[in-house]
Amino acid sequence: MSESLPEYLQPTWTNYAYILASVLFVFGLKMLSSARTARQGNWVSAVGMLVAVLATLVHAGMSYQWILLGVGVGAAIGYVSAMRVKMTAMPEMVALFNGSGGLASLLVGWAEYHTTPGMHAGVAVPTALAVLIGGITFTGSIVAYAKLAEKLPGKPLLFRGQNWMNLGLLLLSVVLLVSFAWNPPGTYWILGLLIGLSLVLGVLAVIPIGGADMPVVISLLNSYSGVAACAAGFVILNDVLIVAGSLVGASGLILTKIMCKAMNRSLANVLFSGFGSTAAASSGSAVQGEAKPISAEDCYHLLEAARSVLFVPGYGMAVAQAQHVVCELGELLLANGAEVRYAIHPVAGRMPGHMNVLLAEASVPYELLVEPDDVNPGMRTVDLAVVIGANDVVNPAAREDASSPIYGMPIINVDQAKTCIVLKRSLKPGFAGVENALFFCENTRMLFGDAKSSLQAVIAQFKD
Ligand code: NDP
Repeated sequence: MSESLPEYLQPTWTNYAYILASVLFVFGLKMLSSARTARQGNWVSAVGMLVAVLATLVHAGMSYQWILLGVGVGAAIGYVSAMRVKMTAMPEMVALFNGSGGLASLLVGWAEYHTTPGMHAGVAVPTALAVLIGGITFTGSIVAYAKLAEKLPGKPLLFRGQNWMNLGLLLLSVVLLVSFAWNPPGTYWILGLLIGLSLVLGVLAVIPIGGADMPVVISLLNSYSGVAACAAGFVILNDVLIVAGSLVGASGLILTKIMCKAMNRSLANVLFSGFGSTAAASSGSAVQGEAKPISAEDCYHLLEAARSVLFVPGYGMAVAQAQHVVCELGELLLANGAEVRYAIHPVAGRMPGHMNVLLAEASVPYELLVEPDDVNPGMRTVDLAVVIGANDVVNPAAREDASSPIYGMPIINVDQAKTCIVLKRSLKPGFAGVENALFFCENTRMLFGDAKSSLQAVIAQFKD
């Protein structure tokens, strides 16, 4: 019976190892869904990957000299970039990782075309898909990287007829895909066209998205990289690549849905409307008033007297690398008898889960982390909300100003706490470029300066 099966379905040790690796991936992913088990989940998935790689390497017919060369070059690039990257540039690096995954799938599809004389439609379709989705992921991720790194303007780049043009190019790529699958051996030029078109489409798909919509793009590109890898798995008939690609593709889609929900936007709206382009004014109504600065000493007095304190971290906490001092202050407040919680907005920071990772690194107890929906209903009973380098995710314009580009996005309602202290260096807007009325509220005090230095000054008062 097994003799009539194709090789990838034979009951070989390689296939058993692939099944084991796939099971480890699934369990690892499951464990990643809870902060408590996330670290172990990472290990379980990594062991799964090791099993998959070893099983592939011992498989007959490998040309080890090329693999060793690839591992050497890849490891050198990975080591140097990982050592040099600043913690604050991690989101950009993740965008580049997604792009590399897409490029790898494109190259697998392209190479397979050359090594498969007389390719039939069953392989040609996934080959074309790996090339198309891989190419879109590659250049789309480069544009996302450039926007996050501020090498390109963060705002959407829009022009007349953009959506129609993108739709036209997408339809053209489907036509090319079908023509390629119809007669793969004689249509190399179509594959070439498809590669070029995919690279252009990646750029065109991401440039109209910007501002506060970027988290959706990041998670969607992550999903695309998985789908491209899955298609590449069908091209080279590698089961574990198909499973791993599908897992990345599906989890990326779930993350995209979570991000859309966090923004209160539909995916179609994010992809086709351009952030803020429908609002009457690009940065909402003018914000007026006078901000009231506070000293570290006065901040200490407020904290010392508070019975309930809510920390709200944002991108500025990552920039200042203030997570450890935030945790230290939290411990001092707990020792002082206050109730302490950390409210994390899903799009805070510059990558999904950014704040969770930083607070976990500082060993903030998981049970103190809460979501906006948990804290907003009881916000009026919170004595002190301490905003650490967050801006867009606490901007009341999202709730109150219909002309604001972020109108409708659920926020953490710190303006409704009894008192709110905002730690940042200036009154400048955040990533979405929208003025923030929170800074001028009657109950808000601004502790200006680098968040880490400000918190250290407050902690020093506690210890005096
Ligand atoms: P924001 O980008 O809105 O604001 C961050 C604030 O941090 C800035 O206003 C800045 O003010 C302050 N800051 C910077 N450095 C420091 C420092 N050293 N010390 C103290 N403050 C500092 O951050 P949020 O987290 O509130 O919102 C995230 C935004 O990023 C959202 O618009 C989201 O859509 C977007 N985004 C999120 C992604 C994700 O996946 N989570 C991905 C891409 C974009 P100042 O300069 O005055 O100090």
